[in-house]
Amino acid sequence: MVMSRYRLQPSPAQEQALLVHCGHARFVWNLAVEQHAHWKPGRKSAPGFAEQCRQLTEARAEFEWLRAGSIIVQQQALKDFAQAMANFFGKTHKRPTWRKRGQGEGFRIVAVTMGDVRRLSRHVGEVRVPKVGWVRFRWSRAVPESVKSYRVTRDRAGRWHVAFAAIPEPVPAPGTGEVVGVDRGVAVSAALSTGELLSAPGLRDAENARLLRLQRKLARAKRGSNRRGKVKAAIARLKARETDRRKDWVEKTSTDLARRFDVIAVEDLKIRNMTRSAKGTISAPGKNVRQKAGLNRGILAAGWGRLVTRLEHKAPGRIQKINPRHTSQTCNACKHTAGESRERQALFLCVACGHRDNADVNAAKNVRDTAAGHAVAARGGPPLGGLANREPQRGLLLVG
Ligand SMILES: [Zn+2]
Repeated sequence: MVMSRYRLQPSPAQEQALLVHCGHARFVWNLAVEQHAHWKPGRKSAPGFAEQCRQLTEARAEFEWLRAGSIIVQQQALKDFAQAMANFFGKTHKRPTWRKRGQGEGFRIVAVTMGDVRRLSRHVGEVRVPKVGWVRFRWSRAVPESVKSYRVTRDRAGRWHVAFAAIPEPVPAPGTGEVVGVDRGVAVSAALSTGELLSAPGLRDAENARLLRLQRKLARAKRGSNRRGKVKAAIARLKARETDRRKDWVEKTSTDLARRFDVIAVEDLKIRNMTRSAKGTISAPGKNVRQKAGLNRGILAAGWGRLVTRLEHKAPGRIQKINPRHTSQTCNACKHTAGESRERQALFLCVACGHRDNADVNAAKNVRDTAAGHAVAARGGPPLGGLANREPQRGLLLVG
């Protein structure tokens, strides 16, 4: 899913109607939180999505005010909750909690077609919201044509936004049969087997300096003070800018790769696990912590996970995930595998044949060769890992 967000400009009357939707979504969400909060291990399992939907139907039959609201809004709140629980069990997110009025308010509308979005003038668009009607938004960029759903949100400052979710169109393969290996770099964001080194943009030096200053200010500002709020907001804006730039980079890079190569081979990394292991465990007390800390920063900064996800969207069926075992220690020229060959982070120098290459590029070439099915007869060490036998995980039923 790609989300594109726009500033929504409801009339005062529409705003009231939108707030009713928000209220219903919050009500249903909080009911679901309650149900799960009462659950304790050993009891019958808390109701799942299907059961909750049935309960919602009953509640709507009983309560006129709920029935008067949009069933889509209410059902989607349950779906959001189901997804939040799945994220919680998947250990990627915290347990979903009670929602308060005025905080992170919003609702989702599904089964959206292009007929529900229209452009009025250069900078003005309209979106059809069930039971509210056509609501204007600032047409700040093109709305993707394959819009399937959208989310309307209201931030603490009272500003409304609409975010359209679209499944990106696959990019046609060039048909050259060419395979590219992509390695998440240590020194760069990504290295290609073609020798290209790609870096995701971050904040500029001046911006980083400003961020540091703001963070120091924040540490000194009194809790709950006005100043503290302002500093926090300024930090949030800088971080959002950084995130936007990286997202942009991921979009451009994934499109470029999908357009240029038939098969894109990437390492199958479980980023989260790697992130954790840098701190070290009892059995491996922080080995290479310094190097890994840098690597983690690099991975997270580069949004490696996002890049792979977007590649899967844009080049479905053309992504091969490779077991990353030994890709960085194996010489691409002679296939000798030895930890010592990786002399410094940036340089690969083979102890067997003297082959020299950028370490990330050498690894990317190994990734490419494994994907291309080249027989890799390892000498002096265990063989290169084979294809990682994993299907990309489909999200839950979310975002119908
Ligand atoms: Zn070699």
